[in-house]
Amino acid sequence: MRTFYTSLIAFFFLACQSPTSHEANGAERTPQNGKQDWAIAIHGGAGGMNRENLPEAKRLAYEASLKSAIDQGIKMLEQGADASSVVEAVIRIMEDDSLFNAGRGAVLTANGEVELDASIMRGSDLQCGAVSGIQNIKNPIMAAKLVMDSSKHVFLSGKGATAYALEHGLEWVDNSYFITKTRWELYQERLQTKGVKEVGDNPISKKGTVGCVVLDRQGHLAAGTSTGGMMMKEYGRIGDSPVIGAGTYADDRTCAVSGTGHGEYFIRRAVAHEISARMMYAREDLHEACEAVVLHELKDMGGDGGVIAVDTMGNISMVFNTEGMFRACADANGKREVGVFR
Ligand code: ASP
Repeated sequence: MRTFYTSLIAFFFLACQSPTSHEANGAERTPQNGKQDWAIAIHGGAGGMNRENLPEAKRLAYEASLKSAIDQGIKMLEQGADASSVVEAVIRIMEDDSLFNAGRGAVLTANGEVELDASIMRGSDLQCGAVSGIQNIKNPIMAAKLVMDSSKHVFLSGKGATAYALEHGLEWVDNSYFITKTRWELYQERLQTKGVKEVGDNPISKKGTVGCVVLDRQGHLAAGTSTGGMMMKEYGRIGDSPVIGAGTYADDRTCAVSGTGHGEYFIRRAVAHEISARMMYAREDLHEACEAVVLHELKDMGGDGGVIAVDTMGNISMVFNTEGMFRACADANGKREVGVFR
């Protein structure tokens, strides 16, 4: 009898000590050597690209661009740079690369212009900065970081955002700098077909939003996103990319997230914040939260797209409900991945 009671007490003691299912899942997915010193993930847009419709040469070109952008991030993280500086530097490289729909290479609005959106957020103090409908500023992500670091505001738009960036010394370019031959031809084609013909035959023609999420060596998170938005968008339309909580979010208590896809759905679902909130309140781990939001919540309402995310342990999640997402990730333990398809 005494043995029975001892066992019963031992059982209750162990039951109280055993991890919750969240912790058990988290532990399973935690990198083998414990917390990562640093981790980084980037995306270059999600869409309908697959092994059949994306030419090999294009895939290789995207992979090379992703690799050179993430290599810069790795170098900075190894040297101890802070998370938001890494996000800014990596996104700048992708904005300058005309393959992506951000900075040079952005898609055009219905009236043939370029209007750029970007945002950045720091997980340590929830500071953030965003710009929308910005023109003439070579690197919108720098404008977003400027708003975060130097202004008393969080979000500037249009002419005011451009003026603020110029006053603070950011580089001016003529708007024609952003417009590439490929995007211009696509715009002309869309004008002629007046939207009757979808550009489904070209899986990457209107894709390429860029984003970056980082855990730095000091244990802080940051996220950023930059885009030209959606092809043929209405003049003045604002997507999810500059909306904190929709396309971008970072909180040192949970994770850093950057999204890409049909922005209206990302805003309605508050996708990036929803992932953080699921971790915070529902005690889900990073993968569970990203999958629940992207593969179920977003998909069930018809929103296509994906996210990249990193948590405070350096776990990385890259989830999409489209056929492909241009992406790459790396961590201090030697993980190096570049991918396009499922
Ligand atoms: N999310 C972007 C927007 O709606 C577009 C994209 O990521 O492809 O503006």
